[in-house]
Amino acid sequence: MIPSPGWIEVDLDAVGRNLDLLRDSLPQRVDVAAVLKADAYGHGIDHVLPLVIDRGIGTIGVTGNDEARAARFLGFAGRIMRIRPALAEEVDDAIAHGVEEWVGGAEHGAEVARVARERGIRIPVHVSINSTGLSRDGIELLHPRGREDLRRVLDEPSLRVVGVCSHFPCEDADDVAQGAAAFQVQSDLVLRSLAAAARAGIRRHCATSFAALTVPDSHFDLVRIGAALYGDSTAPHPGFHPAFTLKSRVAAVNEYRAGSTVGYDRTHRLDRDAVLATVPIGYADGVQRSLGGRACVLIRGRRLPIVDRHAMNTLTVDATELRDLRPGEEVVLYGRQGSDRISSADLERANGHIAADLYSVWGRLHPRIPVRSTTVSHRDAV
Ligand SMILES: *Cc1c(COP(=O)(O)O)cnc(C)c1O
Repeated sequence: MIPSPGWIEVDLDAVGRNLDLLRDSLPQRVDVAAVLKADAYGHGIDHVLPLVIDRGIGTIGVTGNDEARAARFLGFAGRIMRIRPALAEEVDDAIAHGVEEWVGGAEHGAEVARVARERGIRIPVHVSINSTGLSRDGIELLHPRGREDLRRVLDEPSLRVVGVCSHFPCEDADDVAQGAAAFQVQSDLVLRSLAAAARAGIRRHCATSFAALTVPDSHFDLVRIGAALYGDSTAPHPGFHPAFTLKSRVAAVNEYRAGSTVGYDRTHRLDRDAVLATVPIGYADGVQRSLGGRACVLIRGRRLPIVDRHAMNTLTVDATELRDLRPGEEVVLYGRQGSDRISSADLERANGHIAADLYSVWGRLHPRIPVRSTTVSHRDAV
């Protein structure tokens, strides 16, 4: 056992099956970019990338340069696409890893071009357009200045356009379908603005997991898949398995009398004598305080509430219903134990934000252990 208060088990078989299922769910002509931002959504790029390489996926999506560096170190020879606008210093540092940059506007394009000129090279770029109405970084072609902004990016001799992209704001099929239709029209316009030679080989892409699995018209040439890979997609598509489990163990067990208050600020009062278990993990370990008094954990496969407004490195669980609970017993804060699971929806209900908000951070704070699950594959299941 590892000498750490919390740890993450990353189910490599689940990720592998998710990749296979994804490939089976999409037309062959559509390329897949495996999105490995935030260190593979907290799962560890070192654990996930070998599975991606193994399946011949030729493009990955990253945000930080650490991910690009790790990918090359791990032997990935394919295309690395950054999926957000980067700072000039990042762009410069990423040249060594052959990163294709995401151009988020005319001024940003000029920054990327400046770096390229200084290095005496051309940088491959994906031009982001605001067809989907995310209004985060794309060029707004409906704005009077939009065409001019686009022209500026396309005319930069130090940029080589390899993609035209957009990003959906909502996981809603109608919203995605409308955004995809607008992207069709606007990306046509971008392509028509380029000479035929420059147009060849440009990939259009806007779909995330939800869009790709729900709205085929959003596929275009390439889809950018994160959530489904990790089994955390909201797409109504069965068979994707979560790969991430956050575990700890019971450190101490005590019985307290009815009427006692538990934890800081006396927000929880025991209405009966209770057995409370101390788990050595708290908000500094990424288990945010918003979960205190709201979320549950699993011990012996039973769902038990976190009762206190918990501490920096400790939380308290009401384990009265478990007999003879002992220090050392396993606690699951996210993921499966026995026949139950603390799901993404459970976390979302408890803290009001998507589960990725939590687990992408947990991945950086806790040691990760790759495991092989014994669940049947989706191929066997159907
Ligand atoms: C994170 C991200 C994706 C992947 O989205 P999922 O919903 O996790 O599949 C795709 N594109 C961009 C720009 C992203 O930031």
